[in-house]
Amino acid sequence: MFTQAPPQLGNQYRDDPLLGGWLRRTLPVDVYRKLEEELDELGRLAGGDLYRLQLADRLNEPVLTQWDAWGRRIDEIEVTPLWREAARLTAQHGLVATAYERQHGRYARIEQFAKVYLFHPSTDVYTCPLAMTDGAARTLLETGVRELIDRAVPRLTSRDPATCWTSGQWMTETTGGSDVGRTETRAVADGEHWRLFGRKWFTSAVTSQMALTLARPDNNPPGGKGLAMFYVELRDAEGRLNGLRVDRLKDKLGTRKVPTAELTLDGMLATLIGQPRNGTRAIEPMLGVTRMWNSICAAAFMRRGVALARAYATRREAFGERLDQLPLHVDTLAMLEAETWGAFLMAFQLVELHGKLEAGEIDDEERALLRLVTPLTKLATGKQAVATVSEVVESFGGAGYIEDTGLPQLLRDTQVLPIWEGTTNVLSLDALLRADFHAGLAALLGRISTAVFGLNDMRLAAAGRQAMAAVERAALWMDSGQDDEVLQAGARRLALSLSRALQLCLLCEHGQWLLDEERDERGLAAALRFARQPVDLMHDVDPALDRVLLGP
Ligand SMILES: Cc1cc2nc3c(=O)[nH]c(=O)nc-3n(C[C@H](O)[C@H](O)[C@H](O)COP(=O)(O)OP(=O)(O)OC[C@H]3O[C@@H](n4cnc5c(N)ncnc54)[C@H](O)[C@@H]3O)c2cc1C
Repeated sequence: MFTQAPPQLGNQYRDDPLLGGWLRRTLPVDVYRKLEEELDELGRLAGGDLYRLQLADRLNEPVLTQWDAWGRRIDEIEVTPLWREAARLTAQHGLVATAYERQHGRYARIEQFAKVYLFHPSTDVYTCPLAMTDGAARTLLETGVRELIDRAVPRLTSRDPATCWTSGQWMTETTGGSDVGRTETRAVADGEHWRLFGRKWFTSAVTSQMALTLARPDNNPPGGKGLAMFYVELRDAEGRLNGLRVDRLKDKLGTRKVPTAELTLDGMLATLIGQPRNGTRAIEPMLGVTRMWNSICAAAFMRRGVALARAYATRREAFGERLDQLPLHVDTLAMLEAETWGAFLMAFQLVELHGKLEAGEIDDEERALLRLVTPLTKLATGKQAVATVSEVVESFGGAGYIEDTGLPQLLRDTQVLPIWEGTTNVLSLDALLRADFHAGLAALLGRISTAVFGLNDMRLAAAGRQAMAAVERAALWMDSGQDDEVLQAGARRLALSLSRALQLCLLCEHGQWLLDEERDERGLAAALRFARQPVDLMHDVDPALDRVLLGP
């Protein structure tokens, strides 16, 4: 009887020429050599034991037990076996710690995220609590509040699985996740501390030991400025809940291994961090970090999907040929590969800039670029990941739709990436309407023209000029006196055009390096293929016509 051959995953580090090549280009030789051994180990795990465990663990989900046998409220959550293994491995490999040990200065973030990139797709989104843990450590360090830093940061950045902590971020309420200024949770002063009363509507990784959250001190004005940032620990030293109830775990489309809860805060003891106002500003470092995680995880899911699709294409036959010999299937896979390269390079550029910022080695232009590309990278890679993984599912035909191949879960888990940490629209507006947008745009143009200037290959130079032209046209549109409604309506297309132009430029730059240094034409092929896909997405906006279309 005929049986289908499942796709085989190999070592996810060795099988990914993009990651290795980019690291060789970016890191000093000694740093690269030192890191490579660990990446090799993680790549082996990610394509081997962890991947097998993930498939075997498919039906397990976290379980919330609200009461014990004697009527005590306990709200304990048991996570899945893979999550327990992931917690151990990520601590040992320092998936958060590497960024704070900073053994190699500004390269620390690159080292960290190379590991995250390999680890993420085989661990059922355990990267969600890790991202918030990293964000919380960064945010606490920026506040300068010594007592909290001394208590929490060593635990958040520990490599010891037995004692390390993870953190949550509790912002979204029923009134809004994008519009956090409408937060209803009250903060009431209680001696040196505060008590929080309210309902947090989406709190992922509620198994964490601590969280950073927003609440409104009584008598503060409405809006984001009237909110303050608080530090909370979920349980006391005896393990009793700290004035909170876990009402239920969400029944979600994807990320089902992540225990995302609805919480009631009923007098939760909290410590105010900094001033009793401007909390939305105070928590911004958290978002800068979690958006970077989101971007790398998007590229990592794309890489996993394409790795599976390519592996399958070498084994499955149709019409007497292997799929990888059929021209249209090859065309489809090449498109996915090029998108993956673009997303990867943009995400790792963000990481590189972040590393420079934290090491104090960033100049003004790079700082402006970092501020602009943080929302752009998150939004662009999130969209690319969903489109790519959806196409990957189709590339398996009917098998892609079957649960125990693991492919539907990959698509469902990917679908969260454009939603949490800011939706595509919200981030597009965030990028476009911020006061320093023009400084960011100038820095982006500068970055692209420097890259284009260094391109010797004629084909890459032409593609680089295409990227430049897209950014120039977007800049022109911004400066042509559009009214606010038109600007808002066009923000997503503008954000995506800038992002795709940057990706194309980074592809050309990397393609040139691969040609020059490693005589490898894959980067050239990725850049030229990407250039043939839509880059400049700008077109005229007519909000009045859209209203006609949506009207009664
Ligand atoms: C699995 C999961 C886990 C989560 N975990 C957490 C967590 O741990 N902590 C936490 O705080 N939150 C968490 N969230 C919440 C998440 O961050 C929010 O759902 C998200 O930010 C969107 O907010 P919202 O749900 O209120 O949507 P809304 O803000 O109501 O958005 C609805 C739609 O309107 C669009 N929109 C909103 N404003 C504008 C505008 N001005 N212009 C144009 N379009 C607009 C949005 O793009 C979106 O498409 C989680 C969400 C999910 C799905």
